[in-house]
Amino acid sequence: MADQFDVIVIGGGPAGYHAAIRAAQLGLKTACVDAWVGRDGKAALGGTCLNVGCIPSKALLDSSKQFHNLMHSFKDHGISAASPAIDVKTMVGRKNKIVKQFTGGVAMLFNANKIASYLGKGKLLKDRQVEITAPDGAKQTIAATNVIIATGSIPIELPFAKFDNTFILDNAGALDLDGVPKKLGVIGAGVIGLELGSVWRRLGAEVTILEALPDFLGTADRDVAKIAAREFVKQGLDIKLGAKVSKAEIKGNAVEVTYSDAKGEQKIVVDKLLVAVGRRAFTKDLIADDSGVKLDERGRVSVDEHCWTGVDGVWAVGDCVRGAMLAHKGFEEGMAVAELIAGKAGHVNYDTIPWVIYTEPEIAWAGKTEEELKKDGVPYKTGSFPFAAIGRAVAMNETAGFVKIIAHAETDRILGAHMVGPGVSELIAEAVVAMEFHGSAEDLARIVHAHPTLSEAVHEAALAVDKRAIHKTN
Ligand code: NAD
Repeated sequence: MADQFDVIVIGGGPAGYHAAIRAAQLGLKTACVDAWVGRDGKAALGGTCLNVGCIPSKALLDSSKQFHNLMHSFKDHGISAASPAIDVKTMVGRKNKIVKQFTGGVAMLFNANKIASYLGKGKLLKDRQVEITAPDGAKQTIAATNVIIATGSIPIELPFAKFDNTFILDNAGALDLDGVPKKLGVIGAGVIGLELGSVWRRLGAEVTILEALPDFLGTADRDVAKIAAREFVKQGLDIKLGAKVSKAEIKGNAVEVTYSDAKGEQKIVVDKLLVAVGRRAFTKDLIADDSGVKLDERGRVSVDEHCWTGVDGVWAVGDCVRGAMLAHKGFEEGMAVAELIAGKAGHVNYDTIPWVIYTEPEIAWAGKTEEELKKDGVPYKTGSFPFAAIGRAVAMNETAGFVKIIAHAETDRILGAHMVGPGVSELIAEAVVAMEFHGSAEDLARIVHAHPTLSEAVHEAALAVDKRAIHKTN
């Protein structure tokens, strides 16, 4: 007889482990099946986010920022150092230590919450049975009243640029280089291309980013994209728009990349090539035909607005279903589903999910852009405020960027917040809270903000919606 649980979660990434812990907190007998194996050959819970995504990339972004500041910004503060040098091995070692701390932390939380942890690849069979194939090929089957699929996503591989993680890198390979490449090519000026391109640029690589689309950061606010592009160019990132890559050939110790733009066919030769052209749901061999669960046209698990697959007791959350591929979207879905299973009112507000790009300056937004509102015929007003007029930003020497608040022209309800500048990955939370509570620009304008802080840019932008920013002529 198969082991029987209230809940089995397939996938121990952020969406899955949040679902499992919340289910266990609610008194449900819970198991989690996860196949990720770390450098030490042992189970490494946390999925892409903890192992090769959000956390390790932020570790390297921080290391490279420290180095960049040492080389370029410290002199303005009157600080100098003799012969600064980078030891990439130490930098990557620090990153690996942080990864281990967090993946181990999830294992500890599983123990503390009495979650049964299975190492292996899970497959959903009929009647909510889950077949687990261990790394040595051994199979066993467990069963539950509810199964939550949270298998995440994997990088899209271009047919002409197969990952070897020596010359042609995915996001994991680009986090594990043992030295700074002289020339780094990047395909895709999306989130990963910009973040990891920034890491290696700050450490001294010549970075060329090839982006097929004509617009830079097409989903961001146009003013935000303009300022970000200006700052990235100043940092030496060579971003080529309208550049569609068609070939990548490893020749000797380099990669020859062929792309076409308005001028015709072009070639560049780089030492390493990072391919960051998006991710796709990881659902291969996941679902038995007779389980009743369906995949959509993009290979994602089909779900309704409550993450229910339409099959009794089977749910799916995170990157393997529709919607933004963001860890925080996935783990809110995971927790909401656990609550629904326990008879509570789990819910995710998809209208207020924040987006953050951890470049320098940082980029963050939530809600609608002006372009979307125009398209929908919604009347709106905007207020924006530059960091150049914020005392704290000037004191920090980080003045590029602004905060923009978009409010409904008649009701004043906040419809969107768009930011580029220092610390905006944190500042966006204030706008999200205001939007979650259906707040107005007037509400934000009347909230006391500490002085001197970066949050005053949010305050002044809210005041600017009604043309009454104090430190700006509007
Ligand atoms: P992305 O979708 O953000 O960007 C991919 C880019 O590649 C697009 O701009 C696309 O036009 C371009 N592209 C595609 N094919 C091309 C070609 N042949 N030549 C040139 N350009 C081409 O994808 P990503 O950066 O790989 O990130 C993957 C996912 O991971 C995203 O969905 C993102 O949400 C998530 N992610 C989020 C964060 C964050 O929140 N900070 C960080 C990393 C990843």
